[in-house]
Amino acid sequence: MKIHEYQAKRIFKEYGVPIPNGDVVFTSEEAAQIAKKLNVRKYVLKAQVHAGGRGKAGGIKIATTVEEVENLSRDMIGMILKTHQTGAAGRKVRSLLVEEAMDIDKELYLGLTVDRANECLVLLGSPAGGVEIEVVAEKNPELLFKERIDILGLRPYMARRMAFNLGLKDKQISAAVAIMQAMFKIFIQKDASLVEINPLIITKQGNIVALDAKINFDDNALFRQAAVKDMRDLNEEEPLEVEASNYKLNYIKLDGNVGCMVNGAGLAMSTMDIIKLAGGEPANFLDVGGGATKDQVAHAFRILISDKNVKAILINIFGGIMRCDVVAAGIVDAAKEVKVNLPMVVRLQGTNMQEGRQILKESGLTFGIAETMQEAASKVTDAIK
Ligand code: GDP
Ligand code: MG
Repeated sequence: MKIHEYQAKRIFKEYGVPIPNGDVVFTSEEAAQIAKKLNVRKYVLKAQVHAGGRGKAGGIKIATTVEEVENLSRDMIGMILKTHQTGAAGRKVRSLLVEEAMDIDKELYLGLTVDRANECLVLLGSPAGGVEIEVVAEKNPELLFKERIDILGLRPYMARRMAFNLGLKDKQISAAVAIMQAMFKIFIQKDASLVEINPLIITKQGNIVALDAKINFDDNALFRQAAVKDMRDLNEEEPLEVEASNYKLNYIKLDGNVGCMVNGAGLAMSTMDIIKLAGGEPANFLDVGGGATKDQVAHAFRILISDKNVKAILINIFGGIMRCDVVAAGIVDAAKEVKVNLPMVVRLQGTNMQEGRQILKESGLTFGIAETMQEAASKVTDAIK
């Protein structure tokens, strides 16, 4: 789960990470009020969307007067922001963070995440902050420093070594060490999957401040993170994915046009692969799970076809715990209710596949039937062509 910058900064504040003074606003009047209260030389207005790259895309503006804050925020609230992370559709800006603007001397990078290959956590740091860390890793790998963190946690010497690698001096070192330790604490106590500060800045006055804040959380731990769960902003999530999660379906929207309904994550992945191999593009990942009910299958089917890009449907079910006849009944119910007139190709294998095929045959709907995955994939891509 993702949260907004202003929410991540509230967590930072709670853990003692220095952030600029400011607050979130939803209207231009509120923006003016906050600016008046801050009463500083320079303000920064930051669009709150679940995507980075706002700086380059016009989602971050500097103002020098309260009046300018009010005017700029009027333009920004409601605008569609397109960054390299939002996709072509962009994101509607519903709120802004109004802060005291900082005078930047240096921009650094700090990030804490999971190092899957080494089965540990990793603290990443770079003196080349402010740009995407992926770009630094590719173009200047010598400027990306790593501290692997094992079960004993982030020890002070690791944080100090990172501070030296960032080129910090004197009292900046202990300030940075405290920030890294706070990041580690947040990561563990809040069940995060990423805690990132990009940029962490050194101001002209020599202070260290977290100018940006990003925290992602492990969805599987949300059951014990009530406060985190309350920060969820459904406006920022794909509506079909939100609906799918309400029915406990694993659905991820993609950009292609072949809608897929599959049971089991592994089978879903290989179905997407084989669609690609046949020259098609999957419109989604959808795992209805091992023990889905007829109702869940019907919901899954409805979600699948509410994606306007879907031009044909591939249903690939292996009847193990899940029975083919249950799936077939769910599909027929949903297809009749929503009156799909898209080509559908079905591959049913395993438990009760004969009964399942019978249900499809007697439904009065037209389904292409396939025996193998390969055949199913080429039939569905042919149907689109
Ligand atoms: P992102 O582009 O979405 O990651 O947003 P950031 O919060 O990281 O801001 C992007 C860039 O805007 C930063 O790297 C800074 O160069 C600039 N910026 C943001 N806040 C301030 C500020 O208070 N003062 C100044 N001078 N620049 C800022
Ligand atoms: Mg940033």
